[in-house]
Amino acid sequence: MKLLFAVSECVPFAKSGGLADVAGALPRELVRQGVDLRVIMPKYGSIETNIKARMQKKAEYTVEVGWRKQYCGIEELEFQGVTYYFVDNEFYFMREELYGYFDDGERFAFFCKAVLDSLSHIDFQPDIIHCHDWHTGMIPFLLRMEYQEKKGYELIQTVFTIHNLLFQGIMPRESLRELFGLQEKYDHVDYLEFYGCISFMKGAIVAADKITTVSPTYKSEIQTSVYGEKLHELLQSRSCDLVGILNGIDMELYNPEKDPSLFKNYSWKALTNKRVNKEHLQERLGLPIKAKTPIIAMVTRLTEQKGIDLVKHVFHELIAEDIQFIILGSGDDEYEHFFRQMEAAYPNKCKAYIGFDEGLAHEVYAGADLFLMPSRFEPCGLGQMIAMRYGTVPIVRETGGLNDTVNSFNELSGQGNGFSFSQYNAHDMLFTIERALSFYRDDACWINIVQNAMAMDYSWAQSAVKYKHLYCSLKDCMILNG
Ligand code: ADP
Repeated sequence: MKLLFAVSECVPFAKSGGLADVAGALPRELVRQGVDLRVIMPKYGSIETNIKARMQKKAEYTVEVGWRKQYCGIEELEFQGVTYYFVDNEFYFMREELYGYFDDGERFAFFCKAVLDSLSHIDFQPDIIHCHDWHTGMIPFLLRMEYQEKKGYELIQTVFTIHNLLFQGIMPRESLRELFGLQEKYDHVDYLEFYGCISFMKGAIVAADKITTVSPTYKSEIQTSVYGEKLHELLQSRSCDLVGILNGIDMELYNPEKDPSLFKNYSWKALTNKRVNKEHLQERLGLPIKAKTPIIAMVTRLTEQKGIDLVKHVFHELIAEDIQFIILGSGDDEYEHFFRQMEAAYPNKCKAYIGFDEGLAHEVYAGADLFLMPSRFEPCGLGQMIAMRYGTVPIVRETGGLNDTVNSFNELSGQGNGFSFSQYNAHDMLFTIERALSFYRDDACWINIVQNAMAMDYSWAQSAVKYKHLYCSLKDCMILNG
């Protein structure tokens, strides 16, 4: 079985969020488990020069984007046992950021077509193309509607993974003609139509052979009107082909025993070294060095999804507690501004690092005591799993993957790896934080919670087995269908 992973970002080449972590770790695990897999992604300008220097040109061809013919290069790189293909077009991808441009629709329309066309130019014929999020959503759709008649494409099947249903790639309806050269035929329009526009994500949900999402709870949630982003009825209609597989984390990248970003490495057996990292973090960020004062941290995109409104709403009450608060994040101006203001108002208690910094993120995961993720919705969430790996106890809202990974501490049984609350309500969150702080003051109890968290196994091994089952079920269908 041959598998091509099509994705818009992938660690260590380019990352804006959890999608890149998944695309970095899952293929490596699948290859380790014997799957013949390659990854294809855009060749961004921001990829490190020494990595770019090692890529080898594999093919050159032109891709039709509506009436335009655009250059496309395919460059190949072998990295940690996985073969990667990079789609090269300087006009589309040689930019500072990965996304956020007026022509993102065109850039990823090009990418989708480039991926499909690449199959006639590379010596790798996949049985399955596994696509991720809206950027690749038109691949299953175009394959089904336009390519499946072509030689070599007849038997290819597709899996589409929804990492976040909020971002759908909604484009003007004219994009059909302008980007894909498709007439506004009834079936094209019907399958992609989204309130007068078209949705790349919808196209994938309609056309993919199997649809997955990144946690069992999110799988259920997206079939309801509250979380379904107006696609819940379509998702309900495909529920037989919809599977929820929990993401894992890269246990090597996030390993407190070996992590080179840490001041001092540590394990669950020697937690005193975690305290050394806490002191170092306090010193680095200019906070008073206080071993007994708990640090509550967030490492996150600063967007509405992440529950920042709840934090804003009770921030003054929260910071009145004997705590220090650290936030590392970037995103909406309103939230960036708020945390800068809070840092100015409480310089000895609050530090806001506005930006994206992978190394600092690791130091925060290691140095903090509690990790706050009060998300409005959370397809899977990696932050809480990474935090647990570093012995930093998560406080989360019970939604999506947060619900599937964090079990609220039960003082009677001594079980539980964190704290959680269910309603999207600021005072419920505050109450839960206060509950966690009450246990923090009891050393023996706290060490038990920390060790429960560190004992969790969120490695990719089990999830990769579930993906393999899914791929095999498609292959069995192919054999049955001749
Ligand atoms: P999402 O993909 O919705 O942003 P996840 O929790 O799934 O959220 O994944 C976020 C990933 O991005 C984690 O690896 C987290 O540590 C990282 N991250 C988020 N914001 C920052 C930041 N400002 N600096 C460094 N890493 C960040």
